[in-house]
Amino acid sequence: MTQPISDKRSSLPEAERIVSDAVDAEVLEREPALRLAASLTEAGVLDAVLEGAFESKRRGKGDRVSVSRNVFIPLTNLCRDRCAYCTFAKQPDSPDAKTYSLSEVEDVVRGGLRAGCHEALFCLGDKPEVAYKAHREWLAARGLRTTTEYLVQACQVGFETGMLPHTNAGILSAEEMSALRPWNASMGLMLESTSERLRQKGMAHYYCPDKDPAVRIRMHEEAGELKIPFTSGILLGIGESAEERIETLLTIRDLADRYGHIQETIVQPFHAKPDTPMRGLPSLADAEVAAWVALARLILGPAMNVQAPPNLAPEVLELLLRSGLNDWGGVSPLTVDFINPEAPWPALRELRRRTEAAGQVLVERLPVYPDQLLHQPEFFEPRMRDDCLRRVDASGFVPPPSGGRTVEAA
Ligand code: SF4
Repeated sequence: MTQPISDKRSSLPEAERIVSDAVDAEVLEREPALRLAASLTEAGVLDAVLEGAFESKRRGKGDRVSVSRNVFIPLTNLCRDRCAYCTFAKQPDSPDAKTYSLSEVEDVVRGGLRAGCHEALFCLGDKPEVAYKAHREWLAARGLRTTTEYLVQACQVGFETGMLPHTNAGILSAEEMSALRPWNASMGLMLESTSERLRQKGMAHYYCPDKDPAVRIRMHEEAGELKIPFTSGILLGIGESAEERIETLLTIRDLADRYGHIQETIVQPFHAKPDTPMRGLPSLADAEVAAWVALARLILGPAMNVQAPPNLAPEVLELLLRSGLNDWGGVSPLTVDFINPEAPWPALRELRRRTEAAGQVLVERLPVYPDQLLHQPEFFEPRMRDDCLRRVDASGFVPPPSGGRTVEAA
């Protein structure tokens, strides 16, 4: 059981001291993080945490908040797992089951290019060939054994058509990531949670062998060994405790420290969806989401890119902008968020207006961030890096077209 900061009437002075120390040290450790988390509802503590996180962000990232203009390509929505919150995954006999053909991939990419997008986000279910004979036969008809072999072809189509792929395909082996690396600017896997409890019967990840935390940590390590710019993240509100959230963030920090490959950490709140076993679970309050974005910033430090998806909290972008994030993630002018289809993207123009109204500057990035792109060439195949560099200016961000601002075009 986590103890609050103190038993005295006001925890605020101690919270302010913890936050101030964390900002100066550029790190928040487990015990003080636990004490802050246990006191967030006490008067003034949330504001202190937000202010500290914002200051940490300001020191590390200045006044910039970035966004990636992308297209979302759910290459297949078949998946061998059954996460209790998911509506993305379909059974092969569902009328909504879909695997994109390579010509459909090319069509989406061409549409994205016309809309000024740079990123093709390939997001798909985990190893459906293990669970479904029909999908194995579909692959075999194309001379393939695994969905990843097909994904390599799709990423090649995406890259050669003119887009920068970013793949999130669930658990991949080192060999699979190696095969994908030449065609991907970056890859990702939400760590989601290091909680083993969530794999127990009745919990979110019971029917999900690919949500074993040890397996997910191992993939992060292998991506680090392969020098792949890598996106991780935490999923909030799926049954985990505050202690487990902090443990997850500390694990991401440890991976980033050991390998230097974690390019961003997503802080994503769970939203209950109808027709799922977790439909009755309440969503996190907006203030709690903002508090955990802020704690992520303090734990991970000013150098980390911290992202919160704007479509999952459209009413409170201003609150999120106070919480230390420096990235809105991928926002598409063309395609929906297939993971959260009920949550439309804000128009980029609107995102820019609200970001700037909060005193910050919206900039457009690629699916890789400037630090790795400009200063760590070992993270890229030369051809991929050259392609990325052609799209950015000296800051590493996409320059606005002359006489206008890139992100306003949508
Ligand atoms: S959340 Fe991902 S891994 Fe889980 S069932 Fe859905 S697609 Fe599969």
